[in-house]
Amino acid sequence: MDYQQIIHNISEQIRGIPCQGEVASYIPELSKVPSNKFGVHLSTLDGEDFSFGNSDESFSIQSISKVIALTLAFNLGGNDIWTRVGVEPSGNPFNSLVQLEYEKGIPRNPFINSGALVISDLLISILEEPKKDFLHFVRSISENHSISYNHRIAKSEKRHGHRNAALVNLMKSFGNITNNVEEVLDFYYYQCSLEMTCKELAHTFLLYANRGLSPSSGEQIITASKAKRINAIMQTCGFYDQSGDFTFKVGLPGKSGVGGGIGAVNPGVYSIAVWSPPLNKKGNSVRGMQFLERLTTETKSSIF
Ligand code: GLN
Repeated sequence: MDYQQIIHNISEQIRGIPCQGEVASYIPELSKVPSNKFGVHLSTLDGEDFSFGNSDESFSIQSISKVIALTLAFNLGGNDIWTRVGVEPSGNPFNSLVQLEYEKGIPRNPFINSGALVISDLLISILEEPKKDFLHFVRSISENHSISYNHRIAKSEKRHGHRNAALVNLMKSFGNITNNVEEVLDFYYYQCSLEMTCKELAHTFLLYANRGLSPSSGEQIITASKAKRINAIMQTCGFYDQSGDFTFKVGLPGKSGVGGGIGAVNPGVYSIAVWSPPLNKKGNSVRGMQFLERLTTETKSSIF
């Protein structure tokens, strides 16, 4: 498969289409990112790498960090975590409050904000130094010690994060948040502020394409069974109320973030990261989705 040529052709086609989306502005620091950035990196399990555009530029991974946080929480907390958070698609926006009221503070899944806040709460209860230990985990699974939080972005979100504060307080009222709400929010914002390049993200996601085993270090980061379940949740819940559409058009387990990034995997074959900041109304990268739809169509690599 000539991935380099295919990635190049599709990227050029996509850049030729006027982009309809808008860069996230509810986190003021994110609105400063130029809308024309576009990067792609594909890594195969055979150890090959292909890239295009701004693939070596760091961006805010935002909700893609929810996959990494779930991985650590699932590793440390085992199946007990599913008493605190569900595994059903929400069919609602990522920051929605509505279902929590009649589902008694149990979020639908770990990839919407409420679910990730519960995962943050769980991690705070387990980790000695949550921010430091989480960053250590990210650096070890990505085998890259330069990955860091962006304090400006975390602080910017904190100042404007009224909905997240509402979510965490509502869940606290139902008894599904055990730690101090400010501490949970702070840890959550720091996770979201992680910065990675497409190349780093694709390399990190290889473990989900490889039954939990890092192909480069040979380390079993999570069990094959857990990797399978995380992929299942990415498939059904990775794009909020557009998860069905992503499955329909792209057909890969994946996760988006409001920084305009998408990480996705074709189990047994490759991982891919795409970055383009303008978002559609559901909070997913317009060009990222267009790119991945064309990629899986041309390479016949939808898992379906
Ligand atoms: N930090 C963002 C928030 O909490 C993450 C949302 C996202 O990437 N969809 O709103």
